[in-house]
Amino acid sequence: MLIVPEREIANLMTREAAFDAIEKVFAAMASGDAYNFPVVREAIGHEDALYGFKGGFDRAGLSLGLKAGGYWPNNLEKRNLINHQSTVFLFDPDTGKVKAMVGGNLLTALRTAAASSVSIKHLARENATVIGMVGAGHQATFQLRAALEQRKFEKVIGWNYHPEMLPNIEKVAHEAGVPFEAVDLPGMTEADVIISITSAFSPSLMADHVSPGTHIACMGTDTKGKQEVEAALLARASVFTDEVAQSVSIGEAQHAIAEGLIKDTDVAQLGAVINGTNPGRTSDHQITLFDGTGVGLQDLAVAAKVVDLAVEQGVAIDVDF
Ligand code: NAD
Repeated sequence: MLIVPEREIANLMTREAAFDAIEKVFAAMASGDAYNFPVVREAIGHEDALYGFKGGFDRAGLSLGLKAGGYWPNNLEKRNLINHQSTVFLFDPDTGKVKAMVGGNLLTALRTAAASSVSIKHLARENATVIGMVGAGHQATFQLRAALEQRKFEKVIGWNYHPEMLPNIEKVAHEAGVPFEAVDLPGMTEADVIISITSAFSPSLMADHVSPGTHIACMGTDTKGKQEVEAALLARASVFTDEVAQSVSIGEAQHAIAEGLIKDTDVAQLGAVINGTNPGRTSDHQITLFDGTGVGLQDLAVAAKVVDLAVEQGVAIDVDF
């Protein structure tokens, strides 16, 4: 079995490699070559932790396995460890033997950022120049860094529920040489692309905060009850997702469905746009919305890539198992 420890991931994985892995696996999901297994997520009754498994099999990329992990809210304060902890396990699809164990913390951030970037590549207007960020936490910095590579953005605008966190994303904009401006939510009408990445349980971004022609990537809602944008916005938009079953149950679409504003048949797979079986954006006035819920196959895709890179660079630890 090969081990790629968390400490090696930053040296191995690039944003380009993550983007490529995610684009391929979304395409495989839409063509029926890859599927996710039902998600297990449990409050374990210890340390207030939420623990679970996300797994799947990609017949095209031959990735079989799971990500195990979750959220330990006391880690930072009690142990100076990050609260999100995860590990990816890959198995040989021919034999069932375990193939690799890979640190999953940084990979989760990179694969989530890659998902919104893939949505921007395929759904945003080519002439997009202003990107808006709703959220300025840990994940927001990864999302923005990756998104800035997808179009010739000339300005970043940002709003956050906790305004004192805005310097996190301002720093990323400045590192990329792009000016940053803090705005109120109605100011988001200036944006051609908006990424929403918060842990909110009630909407911040309302339908009238979004101009015609905008592409929105909603990346924070990955659990029943969470919500970042007004349900009416989904009714105004063409809605795409990583996986329809997750979008309508734990993603942003759960609310628009519950309110009867859209049906599950109104939600399309982003992979179908990548494969060319769905036209995606068809006009400059259309609002497109990507409901990125996060699937296990994304984790397997980036972990498989990192194992290849670790072997190439001689840093994978080989143990007899
Ligand atoms: P974080 O704790 O670092 O940041 C949380 C963000 O949410 C901050 O910007 C904070 O100001 C904002 N926020 C908190 N309460 C809010 C409220 N009531 N209204 C509006 N904004 C509020 O967390 P993170 O690591 O950046 O993760 C953000 C979200 O993304 C979480 O919900 C996480 O579960 C989700 N996530 C999704 C995926 C995916 O694949 N879709 C992957 C990783 C994380």
